[in-house]
Amino acid sequence: MCPPSAYGKHELKYAKHNLSYEFSQKKGLEHILSYANLRADFMKKINNENLISNITKDYPFIDKSVIGTSRLGVPIYAFIIGHGAKDIMINASHHANEWITTLLLFNFLEEKASKYNKEIDLWNEIKLHCIPLVNPDGVNMVLGKKVSNDWKANACGVDLNKNYPANWYQAKSYYFQQGFCKPGAKNFVGERPLSEPETSAMAAYTFLNDFLTTLSLHTQGEEIYYKYLDFNPKGANELAKKFAEVSGYKLEEVPEESSFAGYRDWFITEFNRPGFTIECGLGENPLPLSDFSYMYKKTSPILEEALKWTAKQA
Ligand SMILES: [Zn+2]
Repeated sequence: MCPPSAYGKHELKYAKHNLSYEFSQKKGLEHILSYANLRADFMKKINNENLISNITKDYPFIDKSVIGTSRLGVPIYAFIIGHGAKDIMINASHHANEWITTLLLFNFLEEKASKYNKEIDLWNEIKLHCIPLVNPDGVNMVLGKKVSNDWKANACGVDLNKNYPANWYQAKSYYFQQGFCKPGAKNFVGERPLSEPETSAMAAYTFLNDFLTTLSLHTQGEEIYYKYLDFNPKGANELAKKFAEVSGYKLEEVPEESSFAGYRDWFITEFNRPGFTIECGLGENPLPLSDFSYMYKKTSPILEEALKWTAKQA
């Protein structure tokens, strides 16, 4: 349990545009600034550099845009494929130690791109927005082994999937009671909803588009979360069942106390449309690359179903 004064006074000055001054005084976080140069590491390790630069060369019909930048100035990309009027968005790696989901989404994008002409009827109907790396700094930190393997947060120690304006105050109160009242590896909700550039970029991009549904890829648990409080977006239950059927993943209702302030929670609250969290794979985060093929086999049918569903909407 945190003292009530811990929050909002000295702990949170970091959020005021200048990252350096508060972190330098915090044990365990003082070296965070040096993580900036680990970007290159991430790219090398997961072979992403080529993917990012080449995917639009190999597949000129894919549009790439920068939706914002991370705390440390790393671009957050969206890749868009299709030219239909119905939009769907899939995002990955809100959580740093779940970076394997970035690979999963990239792989899916490449696979779809390679069949683009064969599936042109689908792309005439829909537009798929992929945001494969919501939290580049956090992922760099985990891959660079600068933080422990349980690090989920961004470079400022904010848990990005607890920073959205969907019952954020309840989330704050719940996690504060659990002792997560300052920047750290996970469960710190931030100074205010959308305090982080990564989450505000996601929210802005979501407002700018008209997504009929969104999927957020996380690890792990082989579970699908689709409910939020009493919201009952049209089609959500049926689609969730379909996802479960094609993947073998379990349908889960989020336990009340932790079902706040995530991207999916916010998307459902704001738009009353189906939004999903897919907990891919099974094991301890970060899941090893050796799990990738099996995980991809189970998960990609979910993504396929989501595209088909989007195409069928009026
Ligand atoms: Zn997660």
